[in-house]
Formats: sequence, C-alpha cells, structure tokens
Amino acid sequence: MQKLKRILGSYTQGLNGPLLLCVGGLHGNEWAGIKALDLIMKMLEVEPITNPSFKFFGKMVCFMGNLPALKAGKRYIRRDLNRLWKPEHLKRLRDPNFCRHDVREMAKLKQAIDREIRHWEGDEIYLIDLHTTTATGGIFCLPVDTKPSIEVAKEMNAPVILGLVERLEGTMLQHYTIGDHSKPIKGVVFESGQHYDPLSINRSIAGVINCMRTVGSVLPEHVVNRHDQLLISYSKGLPKVARLIYAHRIKWGDRFVMQPGYENFQMVRKGELLAKDRHGEIRAVENGLMLMPHYQKQGNDGFFLVHKIS
Ligand SMILES: [Zn+2]
Repeated sequence: MQKLKRILGSYTQGLNGPLLLCVGGLHGNEWAGIKALDLIMKMLEVEPITNPSFKFFGKMVCFMGNLPALKAGKRYIRRDLNRLWKPEHLKRLRDPNFCRHDVREMAKLKQAIDREIRHWEGDEIYLIDLHTTTATGGIFCLPVDTKPSIEVAKEMNAPVILGLVERLEGTMLQHYTIGDHSKPIKGVVFESGQHYDPLSINRSIAGVINCMRTVGSVLPEHVVNRHDQLLISYSKGLPKVARLIYAHRIKWGDRFVMQPGYENFQMVRKGELLAKDRHGEIRAVENGLMLMPHYQKQGNDGFFLVHKIS
C-alpha cells in the first residue's frame, strides 16, 4: 500500500507558468487518482534525464485527500469529505469538538492547499480533483460552469457534464472555484472509471497529462498521443457534452436501493423504474442517460440523469 502523506509530491523547474493543484483520494475507496498522481510525479522526475529538452512551466503539487478513510478503504469515516466544504463548517474549524474525523481531514487538506495558493506569485491557478465511480461504463469530467473551466474539461477528451458540480453541496471544487478568493481558480473533477478497474489509473494519468498540456505546464510536442488515444477510445459512443437534468438525493433513513445493473451513460426511458426507497418506487422523470448510480453503502447521491447536448 502507498504511504499516506498529505503532499504526495510537487514538481517545478522554476519556469513561469501555472500552478496546477491535483487532489486524489478525497474519497477513501478511490485509490486510482492517488496511484496516478504518484506515477506522474515519478515520470516528471525522470523525464528531463531521458529527454533533455523537456520543460515544465509553473509548478505542480499533488495532494492526498482523506488519509484515515484511505487507510480504511472506505468512502469516508463519519462524513463525506467532499460534501463538507460549506461556509458554516469552514467557520468552525478551530472548534476542537467539531474539527474531528473527516472534518479534521478537510482542515488539514485546506491548510496545505491554501499554503500553496498564498505563496503563489505566478500565473493562473488550476485545481483538478480525481475520482472514480462504483458503476462501470464511463469516464467524464465535471467542470465548474465557467468558460475557462469548461475549456480545460473539453480538452481532456472525455464527456463533459455541465450543471452537476453546482448541484452537489459542499464540494472542494466549489469552495475553491466559486467562493470568494483573492486569486481566481479554475477547476474540474475528473472521473476516470470504476474504483477497482486498473485502467482507471491509466485514464487518470492521461486526463491529468492532457490537462497539463491545455493549461500550458508542458509543451504539446512533449505529450505522447497515446494519452489522447486512451481517453478517446474509452469515450467512443459517449456524448461529448451533456447537461444535468435530474439529481436524486438520498435522505437519512430513506433505505434507498438502486435497481441492479445500471451503468454510467446507460439510456433510461421516462417512467422506467430506477430505484426504490421507503416512500416507494422511484421512476425516471424524463428520458435521459444514467450517471453515478448508487451501488455503495455510503454517500447521499442516489443517481443523476443527464441529457446529451453534443
Ligand atoms: Zn469520489
């Protein structure tokens, strides 16, 4: 098992360029992002040896999210670390009774990220948050609904889902990109496939490297096109851009059970039985494509439906 540490690695050659902040393992059962970031750090260390003309512009810093949850292999210990970044929680981080378990992890991660942002005097700042899903059948990115973030997402060569980040409450990405900050930050969530599919690691690597090219950390000629090919071939048949039309939130005590067998981007028809809970049957409100059906014990998002735009 990988050693747990808040800062997984950082890399710079001291050249002007963007600050690229990458986070893996905000959810403790999602190791693919961390393994990918670790490999990218190692690749960056050896690249100048094998390719003396390799240049890296700006700085890249990689973080691990929820360390106790990663150790336990669970999504979270008490509360979902990627739903905690709300003003009412952030105000209470000095309260020792509140700042425990996953909240403490948020405080420590925030401290580490804030330090990098505070000391950064260079150009733009980007935040990439790496995740995986319980269901199979798709990779996608979730940008903040601003033009620069959407541009970064589109260049990753995976379906871009609009409107979803805004529907989730208390995510790290929202905190850093939508909140009031002295320095504007652009950002995207990248979902690289199923939690335990070894190729989710390769796709995370490809997504981050495509991103490094888009934001100008590396020159396009230094990026091998197998990264593009890997994501393009996996995204074949999936929409290029889709927009959220429905989100089903699970409330405490709902006893939500998803109908078996749904995959990401599976077509569903209006009226189709999707899940059941203590209130009865849950049917599709519209025709759409399924996203992130809930097949794990933890978490409050039942499923999402999206519409293909292009
Ligand atoms: Zn996740």
